[in-house]
Amino acid sequence: MGWSLNIGRIAGTEIRVHITFLLFLIWIFAASYASGGADAAWSSVLFMLLVFTCVIAHEFGHIFTARAFGVQTPDVTLLAIGGVARLERIPEDPGQEFLIAVAGPLVNVVIAVGLIVIAGAHVGSGTALDNGNVSLVDRLAAVNLFLVLFNMIPAFPMDGGRILRALLGARLGFVRATEIAALIGQVVAFALGFIGLFSNPMLIFIAIFVYLAATSEAHMVALRAMSRGVPVSAAMMTRLATLRPDEQIEQAVQTLLQTSQGEFPVVNDAGKPVGLLTRADIIRTMKDFGPSTPVASAMSSDLPTLGARRCLSEALTLLQEKTAQAVAVVEPDGRLAGLITSESVGEMLMLQNARPDSFHLGPWSRTRASSSH
Ligand code: ZN
Repeated sequence: MGWSLNIGRIAGTEIRVHITFLLFLIWIFAASYASGGADAAWSSVLFMLLVFTCVIAHEFGHIFTARAFGVQTPDVTLLAIGGVARLERIPEDPGQEFLIAVAGPLVNVVIAVGLIVIAGAHVGSGTALDNGNVSLVDRLAAVNLFLVLFNMIPAFPMDGGRILRALLGARLGFVRATEIAALIGQVVAFALGFIGLFSNPMLIFIAIFVYLAATSEAHMVALRAMSRGVPVSAAMMTRLATLRPDEQIEQAVQTLLQTSQGEFPVVNDAGKPVGLLTRADIIRTMKDFGPSTPVASAMSSDLPTLGARRCLSEALTLLQEKTAQAVAVVEPDGRLAGLITSESVGEMLMLQNARPDSFHLGPWSRTRASSSH
């Protein structure tokens, strides 16, 4: 995740702090300074460190439960809305996802109950987080209860969203459950944003974050479900215009005009892909270096290849995580068999979605698919 600092490692999991978490801490600091002056602000520095510890403890509730199910947990990022432990995969077994999601808030319940029973914390209506007159133990207990309530909001990426998906998933299946949970998350985001308009502007910020997270969760799951067990050959373009490295850019322009392709694989004498030239590359090279520039010097040689029988999900990983513009699909002897781009995957996805027996995509694209049911 961008915009975050690595601050160390606990039990093999990297701890990262996102800029939004730092802003949240600064906001608490400023609020207590405004209401109680410098002393209150400094005592909240200590308070912040304890809050920080409770959030980490919450995340390790998720992390240790995930590990019990054999899921690797490379890092955890602390955000304004709590922490996000990155799990190598989300178990699609609803029972496992439920336990992993619920373990985080449960840690805060244990801390809050411990503070109340052992340290005699009082949690009443007068407990304000930015009030320096309330004892540290009371405020800490209140923070842990707040963390429980906040994380139980039924929206991704909050634990409540995952618990909701797990409960729905037991009956409806993972993909449909994600779709409904994401829709509820988007509704919750709108409600939060609306409340934020009249109260705390921080809520608007959280609402935007929740909305984006709900949308991307649904999108990722739909893509992953679609690509599972599908060979790359199912989503590749096979009627392709190709270029040769010794051709001039002038010839590439001719090819560009004859087709509607946006990406041209460059293929050597043996028929093997050696690079990629995009529409933008061709136009830029023509303008800057003239028509006789060789294709080889204008192309990008960064074109990942996959065998035709490999899984489409691998191609998606290359396109999304490695941000490749295209993936070349090759025969066992290394010759070009086809090309996969985000567009070709998108087209396949639309066709899948148009089939009556297929799953729906997220709420953003369901107009046509829903009306056919
Ligand atoms: Zn959590």
